[in-house]
Amino acid sequence: MSTTIFETLESDVRSYCRHWPAVFESARGCRQYAEDGQVYLDFFSGAGALNYGHNDPDLKRELIAHLSADGIVHSLDTYTSAKRRFLETFERLVLRPRGLDYKVQFPGPTGTNSVEAALKVARLATGRREIVHFTDAFHGMTLGALAATGNATKRAGAGVPLPFTITAPYDGYLDDPDAALTWLGRAWEDSSSGLDVPAAVIVETVQGEGGLRAARAAWLQGLERLCRQHGVLLIVDDVQAGCGRTGTFFSFEEAGIRPDVVCLSKSISGYGLPMALTLFRPELDVWEPGQHNGTFRGHNPAFVTATAALEKYWSDGTFAEEVRQRGRELEEELGRIAALVEGAVRRGRGLLTGVWFPDPGLAGRIAGAAFERHLLVETSGPKDEVLKVMPPLNISRADLLEGTQVLLDAVRAVLG
Ligand code: PMP
Repeated sequence: MSTTIFETLESDVRSYCRHWPAVFESARGCRQYAEDGQVYLDFFSGAGALNYGHNDPDLKRELIAHLSADGIVHSLDTYTSAKRRFLETFERLVLRPRGLDYKVQFPGPTGTNSVEAALKVARLATGRREIVHFTDAFHGMTLGALAATGNATKRAGAGVPLPFTITAPYDGYLDDPDAALTWLGRAWEDSSSGLDVPAAVIVETVQGEGGLRAARAAWLQGLERLCRQHGVLLIVDDVQAGCGRTGTFFSFEEAGIRPDVVCLSKSISGYGLPMALTLFRPELDVWEPGQHNGTFRGHNPAFVTATAALEKYWSDGTFAEEVRQRGRELEEELGRIAALVEGAVRRGRGLLTGVWFPDPGLAGRIAGAAFERHLLVETSGPKDEVLKVMPPLNISRADLLEGTQVLLDAVRAVLG
């Protein structure tokens, strides 16, 4: 029965890339339940969209209460109580305690909408054309975000070369750690270099899809300095690394930088509902009303769960400290895996981390062996050479260790 359903899905869904032979029906916390009764531990978390796990009971209660009271679901750009509560809570629990002053734009339902809004506003505010992005970056699938994505396969999906972006080496891409920033600075100063001063630089502090490379704090600070010197806007894409993934609410907090624009999505709704924010410095509020709108940028059930998630997890520093502790435990466990394979190293930060393997096929085979042992884990990187380990942030130590033990068994099985 389930094989038939799986075969039907396989033949009817176009461009499907995730081959987990199971049909999932329900989920709670860090576990997913398939139609055939099998239980899977989720170390994938919707690629960062489920930082608080599946169906968090407190968030679910708020959502059900909102729907039961005939609360507004769709509101487009009108004012609603749920939207006001979210904005007040975001200001009180996220922006103010960090001394951040940003205007909040609802750019559309997903991460790529947030990036698109960031690129547009940067070009309008500066009157400049180019956007600098980094090797192996991932910023989304719409044309602007894709043009800033350093992945040949994804870019090829657009058919013809994408305009107006320049690729620079990410931290760690070159042997000389300072070479990339030196090159950018010199080229921007030299009007004959062929590199115009761009509108913005867009960066991920940890490259989620690009292979779990984490930029050093000093490199991010250098990048910020360089941008300030040349009047270039700094956009941090925190779609995947944000909302606590790296152990602080924003992934750039540890480096102490202050981006001009920040992109958030994935876990901001707290419940896996579509929601995105673009945060920008008040001076960058340059759009006339209607210059950036969209039908689904006022999704009130998402505002309700987003507010509940902030209240539950971010009203003090306890949760962030727990995430950092789980991150340290995970790093230790991944170290044991890396030690089994010569050349394997760990990358990433907090609970956005993984293991890089010198043999590009290995990570995929290990993910397959992990699935057979009922653990959902993904690969990332330009050649899918990195095993990407992303459990929900509120996972217990016992569940974390259960999952890493499965991973260790999967690695041993693949190595033979
Ligand atoms: N930016 C980053 C850093 C991402 O990881 C992603 C999604 N993986 C996106 C943007 C695009 O988000 P979405 O898939 O929601 O459009």
